[in-house]
Amino acid sequence: MSEFRKDPLHNKWVLTVPGRGKRPNAFSYEKSEEEGKADRKNCPFCEGNESMTPPEVDSFREKGKEDEPGWLVRVFPNKYPALNEKTNIGVLKNEFPDIVEGYGFHEVIAETPSHEKDIYSMNQDELLLVLKMYRKRYKILKKKKKIKSVFIFKNHGISAGASLLHSHSQILALPLVPPFMAEETEMIKKAKSCIYCRLIEKAYEGNRVLLESRGFIVFAPYASEYPYQLLILPRIHQPFFEEEEDEQLTILADVIKDVFIRYKKLLGAIPFNYFFNTPYMEKGHWNIQIMPKLTITAGFEKGTGISINPIPPENAVMELKRF
Ligand SMILES: [Zn+2]
Ligand SMILES: [Zn+2]
Repeated sequence: MSEFRKDPLHNKWVLTVPGRGKRPNAFSYEKSEEEGKADRKNCPFCEGNESMTPPEVDSFREKGKEDEPGWLVRVFPNKYPALNEKTNIGVLKNEFPDIVEGYGFHEVIAETPSHEKDIYSMNQDELLLVLKMYRKRYKILKKKKKIKSVFIFKNHGISAGASLLHSHSQILALPLVPPFMAEETEMIKKAKSCIYCRLIEKAYEGNRVLLESRGFIVFAPYASEYPYQLLILPRIHQPFFEEEEDEQLTILADVIKDVFIRYKKLLGAIPFNYFFNTPYMEKGHWNIQIMPKLTITAGFEKGTGISINPIPPENAVMELKRF
């Protein structure tokens, strides 16, 4: 039976339509020819090609100096930044305060020196280093003048918006709080207790919990917009990602590994987006939202703002639990 479901944190609805013309394995994913190609020579994120990127701003390395090989995780400004730190913040372009100069920071994190490795094949230690770099850059960028929010995200696969295939993430430090977060912040402020803590309870009741591992829980949100969408968050209320200790990040690396092994076994190495949702308040509860890119946004979704999800989240969890 189809069902309209309301997102508890945003003014958004999802239309859940189980089995809408979908046969089993309808979503299994094969890499396109372009994605299968390894072009190490022209890849600016490969070890040895450091001169092809702007100078690095950070790295974890085994050996070598800045902008030399020997790194494990490397950070540099985006060559084609969406935002620019040299822009004059606060200069309004017209009398209405609806244009703010694109001030901010836009960094790229090359997650591995290897062109072939990705989140599906990296081991826990490699994933842990990426998480540690997220935490480090987050702390640094959050302290920059006039920055109001820091946004960590990853696009994997061409159809999910990755322009380069070498495994990487991006961090944007913004001079404003984006609407998605602002809307959520308002809901969190109004609520008596943490909304995410309540969502965890509801996920148990609704059989939408995929896994629990010493401190973290993974579940499919009730109003999942996308097939196999998942939320990873600390099981006990924890507002701030940047305060997580190494021990917690080690467990998180294991959890991420587990999630992506399940995706791969069920669907293949699917394209996806993930982002860190980090509200700036005690009542907030930091989390990671993973959105596989398996469906196409078409006329209905664009015109109404209502997403159609052919895999109800409780079914998605049941399928992912088989592995
Ligand atoms: Zn590469
Ligand atoms: Zn909470």
